Amino acid sequence: MSEEKSLNFIEEIIEADLESGKYTSVLTRFPPEPNGYLHIGHAKSICLNFGLALKYGGATNLRFDDTNPVKEETEYVDSIKEDVNWLGFTWAKELYASDYFEQLHGFAVTLIQKGLAYVDDADADEIASLKGSPTEAGKDSPYRNRTKEENLELFSGMKEGRYPDGSKVLRAKIDMAANNMHMRDPIIYRIKHAHHHRTGDKWCIYPMYDFAHGQSDSIENITHSICTLEFIPHRELYDWLIEQLEIFPSKQYEFARLNMTYTVMSKRKLLQLVEEGYVQSWDDPRMPTISGMRRRGFTAESIRNFCDRIGVAKRENLIDVSLLEFCVREDLNKLASRVMAVLDPVKLIITNYPDGQSEALISENGPDESYGTRMVPFSKELWIEREDFMEEPAKKWFRLAPGAVVRLKSAFIVKCESFIKDTKGNVTEIHGTYYPESKSGDDTTGFKVKGTIHWVSAAHALQAEVRLYDRLFKVENPSQEEGDFKDYINPDSLQVIPNAYVEPSLKDVGVSTNYQFIRLGYFCVDKETTPEKLVFNRTVSLKDAWAKEAKKG
Ligand code: ATP
Ligand code: MG
Repeated sequence: MSEEKSLNFIEEIIEADLESGKYTSVLTRFPPEPNGYLHIGHAKSICLNFGLALKYGGATNLRFDDTNPVKEETEYVDSIKEDVNWLGFTWAKELYASDYFEQLHGFAVTLIQKGLAYVDDADADEIASLKGSPTEAGKDSPYRNRTKEENLELFSGMKEGRYPDGSKVLRAKIDMAANNMHMRDPIIYRIKHAHHHRTGDKWCIYPMYDFAHGQSDSIENITHSICTLEFIPHRELYDWLIEQLEIFPSKQYEFARLNMTYTVMSKRKLLQLVEEGYVQSWDDPRMPTISGMRRRGFTAESIRNFCDRIGVAKRENLIDVSLLEFCVREDLNKLASRVMAVLDPVKLIITNYPDGQSEALISENGPDESYGTRMVPFSKELWIEREDFMEEPAKKWFRLAPGAVVRLKSAFIVKCESFIKDTKGNVTEIHGTYYPESKSGDDTTGFKVKGTIHWVSAAHALQAEVRLYDRLFKVENPSQEEGDFKDYINPDSLQVIPNAYVEPSLKDVGVSTNYQFIRLGYFCVDKETTPEKLVFNRTVSLKDAWAKEAKKG
């Protein structure tokens, strides 16, 4: 029996709200700004918002926060929808904050009419200099006391396009001495003669984040508007605007954003990695983006599990990426078929196996019968892993070495008889003999063999490119280091093996299929695979190599 999980603080709030009758149902939203691809931090927010709605029988809107016209692109909108879907969630409505421009403009007019907003002609520097500091009150702008009529007239001129960018803003008239700097007459509209990806050239004034977000929540009747901790100081303004406008009382709640070791988690930084060529694309398997992780072979289930396991915190923290990798291994262990592949091949010739002959051997696809079996061809010449042979075996070496015996997985026991080296001293060929009576599942030799190694038949194997990934950064928290975060990029984060060999059952495999390459790790078929060329990505190794390193010290 699994223990009942305790409620997180947002669940506690929701249960109290439902019990008191404050709300009768739960409506959350996931509000991405379409200015980049989603990352694992967004996955946390998605799992939380959609998860809460699912748990309490409510719904979640997908709302594109597209109020900033120059940055947003339709490519991002499409990728965001694909990623949310792939994570396994369905939104109630697909909405765009830009669809509310008309209503938001109306709200602004309402504030002006109530004497709660004014047009300020001061430029950005002047506004900043009058804002004061956390310890010192701000000063009123000389334009603060314009009449309603004048403000309405000027705001209408702003909307009509009569003024250039930056020449005027609309500000809420709150309190220039407020303790909360966000309450010192925040800017709510600015002039920007820019094309918008959805509204085209219809608007040349655009609402600021604080004047769009809460109002969009209200328009949609969002009950619990969940965001990250940096919005705590915005909450007072969120509530003030809703109260003054007398609109649906959405409430904002904040949780700690997800930070993870050995990566960066801001779209701005991820964009730099893409644009400056540190990675190949947004979906480069080294990226912490959902599309990158998908391409690398992470499953949606494992990402959801990870988000669940890290919980909902109220304080910033840094999550160890090995926890994510643990979740991925756990899921792939259940679902990935076991196959054989050799990444660093050296030839093993079975001298007593007949020339030109081959036979099909039964091999299990997984740890138990439910995975089924497949046939793997065996023949005289095999590829084995170079590191499975040692010329002068170390103590407790149970793999191949002169005179040693080893079991070939799903096949026979072989004894190493000799080997050949090239002029540079590299082993080029290993010769061995096999015991025909030692076939796996039908072994009558009675030999006790300690080591088992994987192999592929040279005549049958398919050549494949295999891409091994390591952490993208050399340090745990590149954003916290001195200087540019890009100075801490791991130059060896990608290793391409152009000539690996995989067993022939992998012919015509579908993109994204996950496999366990026995003894090597979890791999998946990359989208760059063609009928002529197989490409695999290593998702994760079988064990946590970094944890071992850390222990060694
Ligand atoms: P970034 O800094 O990466 O651009 P953002 O917060 O500007 O992130 P948005 O598109 O505005 O990105 O975010 C959409 C939602 O996802 C917001 O509710 C935001 O709070 C949440 N979110 C973004 N990053 C994280 C994170 N690292 N952990 C948890 N939630 C996040
Ligand atoms: Mg943002």
